[in-house]
Amino acid sequence: MVGAGPYGLAIAAHLQARKVPYRIFGEPMEGWRSHMPREMYLKSSPFSSSISAPAPGHGLGAFRVQEGRHPGREREPVPLSEFVRYGLWFQRNCVSELERTAVHGIDRLRDDRFRVTLDTGEEFSVPAVVVATGISSFAYVPSELTGLREDGLVSHTADHTDLSVFAGRSVVVVGGGQSALETSALLNEAGAQPTVVTRTRPSFGPPPLVDTAQDRPLHARLLWPGAAMGTGWPLVVCSRGPAAVRHLPARVRAHLLRTVLGPSGAWWLRERVQGRVPVLSGRSLHSAARENGGVRLEVRNPGGDVEILHADHVIAGTGYLVDVERVELLSQGLRRAVRKGAADPPQLADAPQLSADFQASVPGLYFAGLAAAPTFGPLLRFVCGTGFAAKRISASLAADHAG
Ligand SMILES: Cc1cc2nc3c(=O)[nH]c(=O)nc-3n(C[C@H](O)[C@H](O)[C@H](O)COP(=O)(O)OP(=O)(O)OC[C@H]3O[C@@H](n4cnc5c(N)ncnc54)[C@H](O)[C@@H]3O)c2cc1C
Repeated sequence: MVGAGPYGLAIAAHLQARKVPYRIFGEPMEGWRSHMPREMYLKSSPFSSSISAPAPGHGLGAFRVQEGRHPGREREPVPLSEFVRYGLWFQRNCVSELERTAVHGIDRLRDDRFRVTLDTGEEFSVPAVVVATGISSFAYVPSELTGLREDGLVSHTADHTDLSVFAGRSVVVVGGGQSALETSALLNEAGAQPTVVTRTRPSFGPPPLVDTAQDRPLHARLLWPGAAMGTGWPLVVCSRGPAAVRHLPARVRAHLLRTVLGPSGAWWLRERVQGRVPVLSGRSLHSAARENGGVRLEVRNPGGDVEILHADHVIAGTGYLVDVERVELLSQGLRRAVRKGAADPPQLADAPQLSADFQASVPGLYFAGLAAAPTFGPLLRFVCGTGFAAKRISASLAADHAG
């Protein structure tokens, strides 16, 4: 198992329960500690933010109770620091053998086993590998901005844990989703001067009216049933039917990924952005160039005219795009051997095509988390997808082990 975020930890916990021998590598919860702003809150509800365990008692609610607090309320978003503590607690309780070292490379041997090389120099071979290395390697920066990345004038939201380094500086944040909007709020609160540039007008979810699903009136529960990803039929379908999503045509899966819980801010961000951070909506990027130590950004406005913006720095809050080529720990030969979506819409074209048990076209090579979302839909982008992934992958590995 490569990776010790929510997906790697959940799969390891399920393998342990099934008595399948495994080794798991990585820094626990590193994606959350090193690639997200420290003052951030989770957008997902406390009831949708549990890492799947094979036995009850290891959810976020249980952790909060064990820390002497309420199990969770819809109207109280979960701070990042709490979720990181929860992940570390989950690891201590459910995954006994974590090895805190990175995997340097994975190659395929002639006998169809995999050779794994660790950062420590240790080498060994295994019949199966699960890639659960998370989202940061898939950070997407639009081509108009990439030329300024090396100069340090452009970064991605995933590059920052502390936005106070921008205090006193002007920053353009590109994008209109949760990451972009929360980054702009945190920049503003840290004394920077952010401006959001986005194609669509930012929208914010409605605040929950009650604190738990059981408090919702019966008619609301019938009309807008609840599921792991939230309330309403589209979310019920995507939460409960990822196996069915896999059989949908590629363009429908791409549409689901784009639109289900698509770019929008959490309800609690509205008052921190609206009226506080300038937002230029209806704008698309045209070009970016270095100017006087900062950035000159050209954007096209809704009328088709080009507007010029000046900023000390640009942060791309433009999300993530799955691309097998960016999983650099896999050898080039292995990356090439993995069948991708090729003719699919651009969003899916470079993603691995996975079987019902999360295996790529290379037998024994599994992908979990965001890399599996183009196959199984939006559930796999979130922590609440860990149960579906961990059950299927651990069952498949247990069957191989028994056979
Ligand atoms: C700003 C932001 C906010 C988010 N908010 C939410 C939210 O509120 N709710 C939600 O459900 N989801 C949220 N997400 C999505 C969330 O990141 C994923 O749901 C979750 O992190 C996926 O878990 P993971 O285990 O796949 O990846 P990660 O958590 O990224 O973990 C990846 C692991 O792989 C390890 N790793 C990487 N390379 C190697 C290597 N070579 N060797 C060994 N280990 C390696 C890392 O150290 C890390 O431990 C958010 C994402 C972002 C960017």
